[in-house]
Amino acid sequence: MIKLTNVSKHFHTRTGIVRALTNVSLEVQKGEIFGVIGYSGAGKSTLIRCVNLLETPTSGTVEINGTDVTRLPKHELLAIRRKIGMIFQGFHLLKTATVYDNIAIPLRLMDVSQQEIDKRVGKYLRIVGLEDKHDAYPSQLSGGQKQRVAIARALAQEPELLLSDEATSALDPETTESILELLLTINQELGITILLITHEMNVIQKICDRVAVMEKGEVIEQGRTVDIFANA
Ligand code: ADP
Ligand code: ADP
Repeated sequence: MIKLTNVSKHFHTRTGIVRALTNVSLEVQKGEIFGVIGYSGAGKSTLIRCVNLLETPTSGTVEINGTDVTRLPKHELLAIRRKIGMIFQGFHLLKTATVYDNIAIPLRLMDVSQQEIDKRVGKYLRIVGLEDKHDAYPSQLSGGQKQRVAIARALAQEPELLLSDEATSALDPETTESILELLLTINQELGITILLITHEMNVIQKICDRVAVMEKGEVIEQGRTVDIFANA
């Protein structure tokens, strides 16, 4: 579903060239949960930004469902982006909008009909367990509930792929556990492929089928979680 081949990304800064990614190759299969783990600065965010098309690699290719997205015109990128949902460490909810509107607004921008929007908001709030929070504002929710709203918003777009950027890093261990359970459910019951980046080993061990370990912009190990972290 996602295939990176020899992806490098360099940033030119005042102090010189930063090599954020060097020859990264990995393949995420349809239906799996794939984790990328590494310390801060390893290149994880840059990698995920190359997949969600916010960055263009300096060299190498990123294929999504067999299409090389590094060389696509803008209007075609937009169509592919709609198949990708994203969640973040900081939730990125609109503070001045209700839970309903936080989920509905992106759908309106995609010209989804009002009837369909109502249907999807109801359906995905039920899946994340917040059907009674339609009219709440983010400030009235706990961190875990905010992440659930962000997950419902991502799902309401009905993506094939969910990208998670440190989605549990701001949450306490118990809340982390419940969000990871939810991601597993989404993967198994809705069939959504998940690519996540994290610096937390427990996230990898709890839900990832396969893992890539990154250090200084390179993938230093890659394989089934049970094989790579057998003795961890
Ligand atoms: P991680 O997500 O693993 O913490 P990042 O992908 O954010 O790693 O960063 C990898 C390296 O690339 C770091 O050294 C970071 O400072 C650098 N970097 C990331 N984005 C930029 C940018 N836009 N401009 C310059 N350097 C960047
Ligand atoms: P996170 O910790 O969530 O990965 P970062 O602080 O690494 O976030 O990066 C946040 C944003 O800043 C990203 O858009 C990244 O590309 C950019 N960025 C990261 N490092 C640098 C840098 N050294 N110079 C310029 N921009 C950077």
